[in-house]
Amino acid sequence: MWAREHARGRPATPTRPDEVEAPSVTRSLLSLQASAGNQATVRWVRDARTPPPLARVQRDELEWYDDGGAGEAEELQDRPRPRTREQARAMVDAHVEPKACFIELESTRAGWRAIPGTGCAHWVAHQRGGPTGTNRVCEAGFKYRVTDLLASLTQRSADLQGARVGDVWSASGSSHVGIVRAVNREDGGTRVVSVSVENDSSASGGVVTQVKTDGSIYGG
Ligand SMILES: [Zn+2]
Repeated sequence: MWAREHARGRPATPTRPDEVEAPSVTRSLLSLQASAGNQATVRWVRDARTPPPLARVQRDELEWYDDGGAGEAEELQDRPRPRTREQARAMVDAHVEPKACFIELESTRAGWRAIPGTGCAHWVAHQRGGPTGTNRVCEAGFKYRVTDLLASLTQRSADLQGARVGDVWSASGSSHVGIVRAVNREDGGTRVVSVSVENDSSASGGVVTQVKTDGSIYGG
């Protein structure tokens, strides 16, 4: 990180390997994202920004990438600095709301990171004012895992029949959650046929309201 920041700050060389490689990078990025998920992609992108091979580097930059004979002092100097909160915030996926707090301390040595996974439970926790805690929480203290959110609630029904406005809707398999904004009934109001669910959706790129015809309902 330290060496890369310095390398970025230098004047651009006439040949820009990163631009030449851009098309294949984009293709690989999409396939990686599909197969390995966002976190792996972020890691891969980070790695892809490492400095170009020695042969392409200007003579006066050689010292920055030469590992030969590095003593202990140099190794300490070259160790990446812990990611700052701001660096982690810049890595939060665009669909997440609220974005600024969707970070956590990975470790003292690594620093902060964008929270792995999607933002659906985090959004619900913020909307409901909880659950909060100290473990597996965003920077503002809200739980961000679906399992932790649902564990703090009571299941009203394993289908939609128990739905009330304000309840938490969970997709089958607890893969996604949102908040019930309307309950749609038929048969003289005795049968729930669907619920309108506001949810923070990675697939839709943000907070949306969608009609759901299956799933389960949690309240409390
Ligand atoms: Zn938060």
